[in-house]
Amino acid sequence: MRCAFHPDRESTGICVDCGKALCQECCNKFKPVLCPNCAEARNKQELKKVVTVLCISIIFFIIAWNIEGSSGFSLSNRYMAFRVLAALFIAGVPWGWITLNKLTPNVFLVLPGIGWIMYFITKLILSFIIGIFAMIIKNIYYIYKLVKYVKTEKYIKSHL
Ligand SMILES: [Zn+2]
Ligand SMILES: [Zn+2]
Repeated sequence: MRCAFHPDRESTGICVDCGKALCQECCNKFKPVLCPNCAEARNKQELKKVVTVLCISIIFFIIAWNIEGSSGFSLSNRYMAFRVLAALFIAGVPWGWITLNKLTPNVFLVLPGIGWIMYFITKLILSFIIGIFAMIIKNIYYIYKLVKYVKTEKYIKSHL
């Protein structure tokens, strides 16, 4: 078998996504072993997820900001600082919720009815407390991913 991108070379591996034969140099480009087309496709998929999650967090912040704005407080500097912080906390709730989904204790679920209500309330309170931290950490992680995506994209373009 010959490399799909270098017809003069013997293949030493295959793309894990599409099965194209690849030479040693092509195999070394990506981990796991991918051809440039599949690497780009995976990157696009990843980027879509990152952008979606970032948009959701921005939308939550804007909604919280506007709800607070309609409450009719005076616009002092101290109030503005409080408003930013409060909006950030509310924007963080879904992030906290997502984080807590991974560690759902079964304790509450044994009790029918009341257990579910207790579970829901506890989770909501915890989401509010840890949400802002989860949001900051996850967004930093997504920005890191975005930078990596742009770099990989450039790399793919220069190696095609
Ligand atoms: Zn491929
Ligand atoms: Zn090759």
